[in-house]
Amino acid sequence: MVLADPTGTVRPRPGQPTATADAWSAADGAALYGLDRWGDPYFSVNDRGHVMVQPRGDHGGSLDLVELVEQLQGRDLSLPLLIRFDDILEDRLERLHAAFARAIAQYGYPGRYQGVFPVKCNQQRHVVEQLVESGKRWHFGLEAGSKAELLIALSLLDDPEALLICNGYKDRRYIETAILARQLGRQPVVVIEQADEVPRIIAASHALGAAPLIGIRAKLATRSTGRWGSSVGERAKFGLSVPDLLACVEALDQAGLLGDLRLLHFHIGSQINDIAVLKDALQEAGRIYVELTRLGAPMGYLDVGGGLAIDYDGSRTATAASRNYSLQNYANDVVATVRECCEPHGVTPPSLVSESGRAIASHFSVLVFNVLGAAALAGSVPEAGAEEALILRNLRDTLETIESWPAHGRRGDGTADRASGGLEHLQEAWNDALKFRDDALAAFRLGYLSLPERGRAEQLTWACCQAIADHLAALAEGAPVPEELRALPAVLAGTYYANLSVFRSAPDTWAIDQLFPVLPLQRLHERPLRLGSFADLTCDSDGKLARFIDRGQAKPLLELHDLRPGEPYWMGLFLGGAYQEVMGNLHNLFGSTNAVHIRLAAGGGYQVDHVVRGDTNAEVLQAMEHDPDLLLERLRVASEAAIASGRLGIGDARRLMAHLRSSLEQTTYLEEG
Ligand SMILES: *Cc1c(COP(=O)(O)O)cnc(C)c1O
Repeated sequence: MVLADPTGTVRPRPGQPTATADAWSAADGAALYGLDRWGDPYFSVNDRGHVMVQPRGDHGGSLDLVELVEQLQGRDLSLPLLIRFDDILEDRLERLHAAFARAIAQYGYPGRYQGVFPVKCNQQRHVVEQLVESGKRWHFGLEAGSKAELLIALSLLDDPEALLICNGYKDRRYIETAILARQLGRQPVVVIEQADEVPRIIAASHALGAAPLIGIRAKLATRSTGRWGSSVGERAKFGLSVPDLLACVEALDQAGLLGDLRLLHFHIGSQINDIAVLKDALQEAGRIYVELTRLGAPMGYLDVGGGLAIDYDGSRTATAASRNYSLQNYANDVVATVRECCEPHGVTPPSLVSESGRAIASHFSVLVFNVLGAAALAGSVPEAGAEEALILRNLRDTLETIESWPAHGRRGDGTADRASGGLEHLQEAWNDALKFRDDALAAFRLGYLSLPERGRAEQLTWACCQAIADHLAALAEGAPVPEELRALPAVLAGTYYANLSVFRSAPDTWAIDQLFPVLPLQRLHERPLRLGSFADLTCDSDGKLARFIDRGQAKPLLELHDLRPGEPYWMGLFLGGAYQEVMGNLHNLFGSTNAVHIRLAAGGGYQVDHVVRGDTNAEVLQAMEHDPDLLLERLRVASEAAIASGRLGIGDARRLMAHLRSSLEQTTYLEEG
């Protein structure tokens, strides 16, 4: 299955950026895969063509990702492997707080910023613990959206100044837990998301003789664009409409709880691509905040929710995989707009809370997977048989015509003489090849061609296609290539087999067409000569990666290298630290991958802080209620019966049982070699 370049020569392919036919540097590789755009400041390339990680961003220190993977493999951590860089997590926190600190200074904002991390973005213990630990210096808090997340947040967040924002549907037990947590010295804010929570909160407060800090989530009229745009507006799942909000204030007032109403919350959806939308939402929420203080609520906090977007494709545009603003723009707009809303009315500007999940947790994890092999249509040209059928001879002649194509008038400098005329010859030859291939298929169906002959016809057709693609690649930029011929390199694209389940490790690519940067970790200083996409290990035709970042759009094929026999080809999927891990499922019983937490060490190098082993086959079987011991026992009995009847030797039976036992202990992915 290994892709072999039939001629062994390095040939450029169409659609390649900048460099001339033979020169290609690591910088070209970085530009091709957008590393210098979406990767800044954490990912770059070195002159060995390896991806480098700068886990502390601009603060110095870097790791060669290829060397790191080699060394982790030496520790028996096989691919696919999720590498989490906790320094990046900390750097993201630092950047977020620095941006708000700058904005607050610049606009002379009298309040402060106090962020929280929405636990739903990544509930992994080591991740939440790291964020709580790193966030202490800013009293960074947590946001919970369910009872289980509340339990995580309550147990991990022990800073009395940090906020614990309680969102999501709430029953009486959820509410009482939050109220009692206040006595534990936590700062839970119960955010009213549904009108029917109001009587429950009132009843629970009266029963316990204590109230929580109360927040209200407003349903804004401002609609976000993009995938999560419907998170707001009249039909939004969460939040109170203006009439409900007013009724809620009145009910709280009558119950004597208005004095505990401290926070206004809104969330207009994840990945807000367009800053203009955010500004509208901020104005609307700012106005509601002012009105709430007029109605007698003490208030004090405005929570602007999540939505701070990631520039997955590095295009800096208001498109789905990008955003048209920077972190600093975001902080400036929040601070300036809220101030503008409050000051004219003499209302003290609130402490600002945000619940940025994606913006904090995306960068820190890199999923590394290996390519097991590749299949391509074009391969070697078959030897001519002694008495070849006419159809095959026709195809051979066509291939020769294509190969000798410059004879029809291409100049030595790569420009075409009477360019379109010259290229028309190629088009004509390709039409012939397709006609002969169809003839071959018809002849096979009618019994005139054998299966090996049909196989040779296909090989010759793809050799024609490859030969044309090679000619096109050598043409000068802008040559008038006919549309049909332009499509040929894509026709020749290879399928690269990835040791991965997208359903487990990149579920958003399948479920919501999310784009993530994907690129080889090595050979970036070599021009990639293939176009390809990835097929994963699952027996599901949706199990593929076939959409790649392309500056504000998406492309179906990625530039890749020919595989070299015996040499690994490692890919990285980047910016996937948010949401992916928990959304992943056990389709085909592929389980979680191995995961490691890496920290830069004080004296250079790195340390492995935590190792989280991936699911074993036994574990995924148990998840489906199968009993691995019982399964083994059944097979042992079957093998005894086979030994007794003489069908299986004792040595082979032992070998079989050993394979079964060790498979149960291994992860669910393929072992190399
Ligand atoms: C999901 C969610 C967030 C996180 O959104 P990001 O876009 O990841 O920042 C914040 N707040 C609420 C209420 C959410 O539901």
